[in-house]
Amino acid sequence: MRRWWPGRPTLRVRLTAWYMLLMALTLLLFSGYLYFRLERSLLAQVDATLQVTASQALTNLDEENGRLAFQNNEASRLVTARLSQSGFAVRLIAPDGMVWDGFGGYQEVPLWVPDAAGYRTVGTGEARWRVYSQPIQTPDGQSVVWLQVAQSITPVDDTVENLRTQILLGLPLILMLAGLGGYFLANRALRPIDRITRTAQAISASQLDQRIGYTGPQDEVGRLATTFDNMLDRLQKAFERERRFTADASHELRTPLTALKGRLGVTLSQPRTPAEYENALRDLEQEVDRLIRLSTDLLFLARLDQRRLPWQPQALDLSDLLGAVVEQMRPLAEDKGLVLTEEVPPALSILGDPDHLIRLFVNLLDNAIKYTPPGGQVVLRAGKERTGVWVAISDTGPGIPPEHLPHLFERFYRVEESRSRPSGGAGLGLAIAYEIARWHGGTIEVQSEPGHGATFTVHLPLQPRREAQKAD
Ligand code: ADP
Repeated sequence: MRRWWPGRPTLRVRLTAWYMLLMALTLLLFSGYLYFRLERSLLAQVDATLQVTASQALTNLDEENGRLAFQNNEASRLVTARLSQSGFAVRLIAPDGMVWDGFGGYQEVPLWVPDAAGYRTVGTGEARWRVYSQPIQTPDGQSVVWLQVAQSITPVDDTVENLRTQILLGLPLILMLAGLGGYFLANRALRPIDRITRTAQAISASQLDQRIGYTGPQDEVGRLATTFDNMLDRLQKAFERERRFTADASHELRTPLTALKGRLGVTLSQPRTPAEYENALRDLEQEVDRLIRLSTDLLFLARLDQRRLPWQPQALDLSDLLGAVVEQMRPLAEDKGLVLTEEVPPALSILGDPDHLIRLFVNLLDNAIKYTPPGGQVVLRAGKERTGVWVAISDTGPGIPPEHLPHLFERFYRVEESRSRPSGGAGLGLAIAYEIARWHGGTIEVQSEPGHGATFTVHLPLQPRREAQKAD
């Protein structure tokens, strides 16, 4: 079977359909209510006139040969004639069902002996009557005679019927108009979304600088557009970071390789003594070490990024771990003529990965030692805080100018190329420290004033949060 609708109807069609359905239901309910109210009120009017007529008829009753009958004088005939002309049928029914007297078209009204006073609708189809029955005591007081006043309700039926026809004819028309209006409104409300969709379709990875730039009010659609633009901002930044990272990494790899190539070229350009060869090979070994360090760091960062490192947190005594790191770094500090001290309270314990944490603190101490001139001081302090522990490493080195602080933990970022080049750093040490802290659910921050040293503070929670190890 072929479907008449190609695929799923669009949102505007569905909105319009819902709108029409609700409108139809509302209209039907309202028209139904109107219909019944009108019928009831018209009948109530008829009932009121029937009762008035019954009172008039009562005043024209008389007794004839022990039976009740309508008076036969001039005035009474006038009244009955007028009532007959107005469409009223009046009769008197004896307890045995005999009609004693009557005027108007009372023969047409179906006959029955009422058992209670009140109103009743009798007859069918075209000829329906509303009848009011009222009991009257016979003059001898022995039995009850019924006075019945009836009026045809065909006009009421006609009016109600007319209303029904109007409703049935008008309803589809109103629904059609409502449908058109609904479609127009849905179209108007969804047009900005169409625009957003078109802009989004036009944005490709190479044109991430495009924005929707919605200028309308900040309603649902406005918020959607802003959220989309913000997401593009983040994506663009991430893409640029990625691109810069690749460029930086290639550059960092090329530098030692070019140095290697140059050194090899010079050495091989003429025959050398064994001592000269050994010298050259040692230089080459240094460059190769540098390359190995760099690729190890890159691999470590890549694994951290992909969250592919084994995660086995252990309960560890941070005080012991810090003590061991300081002892490991002490010879380096002493060689440079620095005083390295440690102020760590005993038994600071957290859950974490000891290898990674050693790497974090070695990187920070290594920097402090590397950048502090001889005669300076490096201090490692630690302590407890509300949610975990803090470890701060301060030095008396040259410090870091404030404009560099926000970028310090970015990959390959160096404050001064010339300052770090001889010491061999590629600008990955702090990035790795930052990622390890993050991996533990912690943070790392830096405070520094040029000329007054720098302090790097690491905050680690007592227990790493599981989400910290999940990929972004
Ligand atoms: P690198 O391998 O070059 O040391 P890092 O990521 O460890 O790279 O550090 C980035 C930059 O931050 C360094 O180039 C250096 O200029 C600066 N820096 C880091 N630690 C200190 C410090 N303790 N004192 C002064 N500058 C520092």
